Amino acid sequence: MNTTTIKTLKTNGLTEELNRLIGKENVLFTLEDRICYAYDGSKQKYIPDVVALPQSTQHVSDILRFAHKHEIPVCPRGAGSGLTGGAVPVKGGIILDFTQMNHLLEIIPEDLTATVEPGIVTQTFQNKVAQYGLFYPPDPASAPFSTIGGNVAECSGGITGLKYGVTRDYILSLEVALADGSIIHTGRKTLKSVTGYDLTRLFVGSEGTLGVFTQITVKLLPLPEKIEALLIFFAKPQDAVLAANKIISNNLLPRALEFIDKSSIDCVRGYKQEIQIPGEVNAILLIDIDGKETSVKAEASLIEKIVAENHACNVVSAKNPKERDALWEVRRAISPALYHIAPYKINEDICVPRSRILEILDRIADIHKRYPSLKVASFGHIGDGNIHVNVMYDKEEQQQIMAERMIEEILRATVELGGTISGEHGIGNVKSRFLPLEVPPQELQIMKDIKHLLDPKGILNPGKMFG
Ligand SMILES: Cc1cc2nc3c(=O)[nH]c(=O)nc-3n(C[C@H](O)[C@H](O)[C@H](O)COP(=O)(O)OP(=O)(O)OC[C@H]3O[C@@H](n4cnc5c(N)ncnc54)[C@H](O)[C@@H]3O)c2cc1C
Repeated sequence: MNTTTIKTLKTNGLTEELNRLIGKENVLFTLEDRICYAYDGSKQKYIPDVVALPQSTQHVSDILRFAHKHEIPVCPRGAGSGLTGGAVPVKGGIILDFTQMNHLLEIIPEDLTATVEPGIVTQTFQNKVAQYGLFYPPDPASAPFSTIGGNVAECSGGITGLKYGVTRDYILSLEVALADGSIIHTGRKTLKSVTGYDLTRLFVGSEGTLGVFTQITVKLLPLPEKIEALLIFFAKPQDAVLAANKIISNNLLPRALEFIDKSSIDCVRGYKQEIQIPGEVNAILLIDIDGKETSVKAEASLIEKIVAENHACNVVSAKNPKERDALWEVRRAISPALYHIAPYKINEDICVPRSRILEILDRIADIHKRYPSLKVASFGHIGDGNIHVNVMYDKEEQQQIMAERMIEEILRATVELGGTISGEHGIGNVKSRFLPLEVPPQELQIMKDIKHLLDPKGILNPGKMFG
C-alpha cells in the first residue's frame, strides 16, 4: 500500500475525483463523517480518508478502477457489525459503504431464488421473502442490522446452522467487482451447477479481500409452518451436553439447539427481573423445532422425553410467537448482561466436532484455573459445535494481556481437538496472527497466491486475513 500516493491524492483532490465519478452527494469527506466509519463491532479505530456511497455496480467499478490505478486501499462495508475488524480501514483509503445499494432486485418463487443488492439488511430481506411464503434461513443474531453483503463476506452462521447450514449454503451466484474494476459473474441462478471451479464459494467468506459483491443471488426454502421453542433446565452441565447429543442421535434435527453455561446464567439472573431461572439450574438448552404442525408436536414430545431421561430439572415450552420470544429473551440477554461482571470482553467463536464439546469445555475450565482473576462465560450453538467463549476482564493492562494469553491457549486447544478458531466471525485483522495455528504453511501460501492473483496491488481490504 502506498501511503504517499494517498497523501498526494488527498491534497490533490481524492474527494474531488470521487465527486466526479459518483456525484458529490455520494461522497463523505468531513472528519465528523469519516469518524463514524472508523469503527466496527471489534471496537478498533481507523479513520478512512474518504467514504463513498455507491448507488450502482457502475459506481463500484469506476471507484475500483480509479483506486487500482492510484493504489489506494478500498474497504467494503455493510453495517459495520463485524467482530474481527473486517470493515475498519486499517490502512486508510476509501470506505465503500453499501447501505444505499440495498434493493431486493428479484424474487422468483417458482425457482426458489432471489437476487439482492449487498446492502439489504438480512432481516428486512427475510421478512420480504416471508410475504411470498419463502424462507432465507441464515440467521445471525445481528440479522436486524447486518447486511447480506457482510454476511456473504463473513460466511455468517447463526442459530439455524444445525438444520439449515450457513450463508455459503444459500449463495448461488455473485456479481463481483474485481480489484481493477472489472465485473465478473460467478455461478448460475440455478439450484445446481458444477461447471468449472466453484468461484462463488471462493468469494464467500473472503472478507472483502478478493472482490466486492454488487449483486447476490440466493436460494430460498418454503417457510416452515410452525416453530415451537423449549427452554430446558439442568443441574449438571454434562447432562445438558449429553442430552443435546442424544437428541441428534435420535435422528432429530432441531431448527436451533443452544447451550448456556452457569456463568452466563448467573449474569442473566441478575440482569432482568422478568427472567426467572431457579437457583439449582447450572446449564440450559434452548431449542427451536420447526416444520408442519403435527411433526413439530411429535418432535417436541420426543425431545421432552429424551431430556427427562437425561436428568433435566424442568422444561418450559412456548407454542406461539409471543411465548417463544419470551424464552429467547434469556439467550438475547446474555451479551449485554456480561458487561455487568466486567467492562471488557473478548468474544471467541470456536467450533469443534460436536462429539468433543465436553472435552473443549473441560479444557477451557482447566485453562481458566491459570487465570483466576478473569471471568469466563460460554454459550452458543452446541448443535453445530460452535461455542461463544467470552473472556471478561477489567481495564488494567495486565488483565488484557492475561485475557489475550488465555484466548490463545483456548484457540490452541480447539485446534488440537480438530476444531476451528472461527466458526462464524471470520479472521479480519483481529485474528490474523492466529491463522497459522490452524492453516498449515502450504495451504496458507495457496491462499496468499489466490489473493495476489485477484488483487496484485493489494488494494482490497489490506491488513486483513494475513495481517
Ligand atoms: C450483536 C452482534 C451479534 C452477532 N451475531 C452473529 C451471529 O450470530 N453469527 C455471525 O456469523 N456473526 C454475528 N455477528 C457478526 C457480524 O454481524 C457478521 O459478521 C455480519 O455478517 C457482518 O455484516 P455487516 O453488514 O455488519 O458487515 P461489516 O461488518 O460491515 O463487514 C464485514 C466484512 O464484510 C466485508 N463486506 C461488506 N460488504 C461487502 C461487499 N459488498 N463486498 C465484499 N465484502 C463486503 C467487509 O469488508 C468486512 O470484511 C454479530 C455481531 C454483533 C454486533
